[in-house]
Amino acid sequence: MSSTSSNDPSSVARDAAGAAAAPRRSNFIRDIIDRDLAAGKRGGQVVTRFPPEPNGYLHIGHAKSICLNFGLALDYGGRCHLRFDDTNPEKEEVEYVDSIQADVRWLGFDWGEHLHFASDYFEQMYAWAEQLIRDGKAYVDSQSREQIRENRGSIYEPGKDSPYRDRSVDENLDLFRRMRAGEFADGEHVLRARIDMAAPNMLLRDPLLYRIKHAHHHRTGDAWCIYPMYDYAHCLEDAIEHVTHSICTLEFEENRALYDWILDQLPVPAHPQQIEFARLSLDYTVMSKRKLLELVRDGHVAGWDDPRMPTIAGLRRRGVTPKAIRDFADMIGVAKANSTVDIGKLEFCIREALNPIAPRVMAVLDPLKVTLTNWPEDRVDTLDAAYWPHDVPNEGARPVPFGRTLYIERDDFAEVPPKKWHRLAPGAEVRLRHAYVIRCDEVVRDAAGQVTELRCTVDLDTRGADPADGRKIKGTLHWVSAAHAVPAEVRLYDRLFSVPKPDGDPEVDFKTHLNPESLVVRQALVEPSLAGTPGDQRFQFERQGYFVTDAVDSRPDRLVFNRVVGLRDSWAKLVAAEAGPQAAPSAPAPRRDKPAAPKEPAGPRTSERDQRRAESPELAARFERYQRELGLTREDADVLSGDPAVSAFFEAALLAHDGPKTVANWLVNELQRELKERPIDQLPFDGRAFGRLVALVDRGAIATPAGKEVLAHLLAHGGDPEAIVRERGLEKVDDRGALEAAIATVLADNPDEVTRYRGGSKQLFGFFMGQVMQATRGKADPKLAKQLLTEHLAQGR
Ligand code: ATP
Ligand code: MG
Repeated sequence: MSSTSSNDPSSVARDAAGAAAAPRRSNFIRDIIDRDLAAGKRGGQVVTRFPPEPNGYLHIGHAKSICLNFGLALDYGGRCHLRFDDTNPEKEEVEYVDSIQADVRWLGFDWGEHLHFASDYFEQMYAWAEQLIRDGKAYVDSQSREQIRENRGSIYEPGKDSPYRDRSVDENLDLFRRMRAGEFADGEHVLRARIDMAAPNMLLRDPLLYRIKHAHHHRTGDAWCIYPMYDYAHCLEDAIEHVTHSICTLEFEENRALYDWILDQLPVPAHPQQIEFARLSLDYTVMSKRKLLELVRDGHVAGWDDPRMPTIAGLRRRGVTPKAIRDFADMIGVAKANSTVDIGKLEFCIREALNPIAPRVMAVLDPLKVTLTNWPEDRVDTLDAAYWPHDVPNEGARPVPFGRTLYIERDDFAEVPPKKWHRLAPGAEVRLRHAYVIRCDEVVRDAAGQVTELRCTVDLDTRGADPADGRKIKGTLHWVSAAHAVPAEVRLYDRLFSVPKPDGDPEVDFKTHLNPESLVVRQALVEPSLAGTPGDQRFQFERQGYFVTDAVDSRPDRLVFNRVVGLRDSWAKLVAAEAGPQAAPSAPAPRRDKPAAPKEPAGPRTSERDQRRAESPELAARFERYQRELGLTREDADVLSGDPAVSAFFEAALLAHDGPKTVANWLVNELQRELKERPIDQLPFDGRAFGRLVALVDRGAIATPAGKEVLAHLLAHGGDPEAIVRERGLEKVDDRGALEAAIATVLADNPDEVTRYRGGSKQLFGFFMGQVMQATRGKADPKLAKQLLTEHLAQGR
């Protein structure tokens, strides 16, 4: 089947290479590297590392760091090491070492021969510690842990020197050697750097370098009973490996001074540069290894690879592809300020990655029996059903049997249909996907009044054809044949927590926010082509979402499917709908099993658009008008007049903003991809709001990237474009004064670069632009910024 190759894990490396070849967005780390390379610093090399501590499974935050470090190495033709920072024996285990390697590899990255362990450098680190002692830069302190803490002082007052600070070199060496030899108990002595107990940066107040820990290490066994502290070990590991750029998260900003101090004292082979970036936080989950461990240990989830966990192992089992995670890392970029990322962005990347590789099939999750009363008892039609929609350029089809008894989704029938209900109801007609049009004649109930069966008639002339008399069939339902369907367990996974920031309040246990409906299990019926499917194969169940056969529990003869992600962000929509237009981000978790809004198949194909215009003089007239009067291209006019709902949306947008070309452009290019998964009349905003958004961009009130941010917000939550712009502070900075002030600050902050630029290094212009855009948080009008920057850089020559 055509799905096998697309699910092939070997495509990962190729994907990674492909991703690396594509031009990447610039960021401040790239700017630093570009500058270093331009200045010929660090031997013109880029060597990065990913340095996990093997004390838990990797999560999506680590994935951001992995994609960044390995991605930089790939892009700059350098290398990236995988180094285990195994300096704390008590919490570390081989299980974690193995899982981490598997996860990095699965993400599509390769460390080649550069698999390293900090513990391999213990002997060298020890030798350098003795050297610090000999140079008078380290001493053995014998104060208790409490005394040491007390004497460190505070940010308001300097610390006090330890009474042991002036021990002789010989005494220090003797004590340190005996520490290593195991003569003392844990905590009896420590080795400290001798820097300055009054340093304003508290980390420089004689930091600890070594402590005694009589603990068994998973690699060095009992060879050591003293272990180096992170701040001492990490910079040395980087230096030994000739790392050029040591990228870590923001909380290490203050530690940089210590990183540099240690490297300055010792004859290390290299002095890497530490660069900090913002760590990833995602809403609706937790990202600390300690908390994840707690969830596993206390049985709130089935293990580190539970599909609800934000771990890489969990995401993998959930059915997410490595490409989706890499794309997500690219999408969120790297920044200097911590922020929480909308999990909807990850879900978006997952859908985008699965769309071209997941064949469409049919599965009924909550079956309701349908009997076709005019269909001969023994007749079975075999339908040829394409796996792919028209906009996915793959080929392939499978046979689907159609008989007298079928199952449809219970949700797809309403005895008293609401307005705009295009699904089944008494007397109503629907098309069955790939098959015929049926009409519901009779509803059968059991003694309790529960609907148990629908008796329908089938219009035998409608297989693959519209009704001959021209009547309109609006809805299409998925179904399975009762005689042929295969039973399967379906695990509907949802967000693990029901609030955006489960660990936002230190007073409240984050576990109280666990979403009780994060897993709902259904006994479903799937079409017979799925019989025998092996594990880890992805599909789209039409109208339901993306699913994967569970890699652990699914058997070819006992299928278990995990829901990877729904077809669209039904969560955001439900939250918005329940909480009303002013939906707070912390609105309560909606109930899952609510009937969703009526769904329609995706937008029409080109031939269908022609067909619709042939049937509707109004649409035909618009097709002409859009080209002749509004000056749109034929392609855009075709899309915008080929479907009544799309066209109505466009017309409404034009009422709000008389800019047909840009409105068309935004609709066709930015909105279109959304419409694959939900029809335009089910968006949480209308054409007028869309028109007003485009007007803001056209008027120059916001920059294009800000416009896209507003659109993303509208798609997720609805709302008012002007209000979103105000709330998020997205107004463009085109006020000359503010921009000039930002430029002046940037130039003042980077005097060396200014001198070099004025001395002829014109390639630095990009660096300055980047700094200015950063200083204005991307809101500067780029044209004006460029013009003013050119002027400012030219001045003072
Ligand atoms: P702990 O929670 O035990 O402190 P950690 O999450 O920092 O651990 P490490 O094993 O020390 O985990 O992390 C390895 C690397 O991954 C480090 O360079 C760290 O900065 C980076 N990293 C960890 N969490 C995130 C995150 N949420 N976003 C981006 N990078 C991260
Ligand atoms: Mg850490």
